[in-house]
Amino acid sequence: MNKLLILNYHRLLDSDHENASAESIFFVHKTNFIEQLDLIDQLEIPIVSLQNGLKNNDQSKLSVVLTFDDGHASDYEIAYPILKERNIAATFFPVISTIGSQDRLTWNQILELSQNQFEIGSHTFSHVDLCNSIPEEIQFELEESKKIIEEKIGLAIESLALPFGKYSSEVKRIAEGIGYKNMLTTNGGTSLPDEVLLHRWNIKSTTIIQEFERILKGNSVTYFVKKSKSTLKRLIGNGLRN
Ligand SMILES: [Zn+2]
Repeated sequence: MNKLLILNYHRLLDSDHENASAESIFFVHKTNFIEQLDLIDQLEIPIVSLQNGLKNNDQSKLSVVLTFDDGHASDYEIAYPILKERNIAATFFPVISTIGSQDRLTWNQILELSQNQFEIGSHTFSHVDLCNSIPEEIQFELEESKKIIEEKIGLAIESLALPFGKYSSEVKRIAEGIGYKNMLTTNGGTSLPDEVLLHRWNIKSTTIIQEFERILKGNSVTYFVKKSKSTLKRLIGNGLRN
């Protein structure tokens, strides 16, 4: 079955911001983002939209999905032109209560993204810690955000990016009851299309290209195990079995 490697970005920074890590660990410099897209391209890994990736049951090995959380203005100002030029899909997860505020997406921008085939998902109404909320609050955060985006863009919202990647069985149950088909965590790894809780890798200002390559080549642990096995083999001959 097709495996999905979902990457999670937040704000992208342009050339005015020389040192991305000084701003926030979750802000990625535009040049790093482009370098990462180039590497995905070089490794010939297809980038698909989340919904297409989830529908895809063919035998291809691995697909990458790009997601952007929190609805930063850079989604529209920096990511959108790059993605559009390269004809790459992505899903954006704005937080309803911050839409239209400083350095955040406006509804017009969200509408334009949606009309240009980019997917929009919910990242709750006000980005609360759902594991620290009472059921009524969880219900409001998940239901209201879904309803508002659906009314604005005229499309069904089925994906929920969990604030801080946090969830509980109660959050999952309430979300499923409201109609979410999948929830995106920040637990690294790959996902199968029929999973409800989807794995996701946070790409940070500190994610150097070698680490990014390791993420693309499977999960880092497997990569290291394989690597140390081959190093051992070199050291002690071919006595080791695969
Ligand atoms: Zn967030």
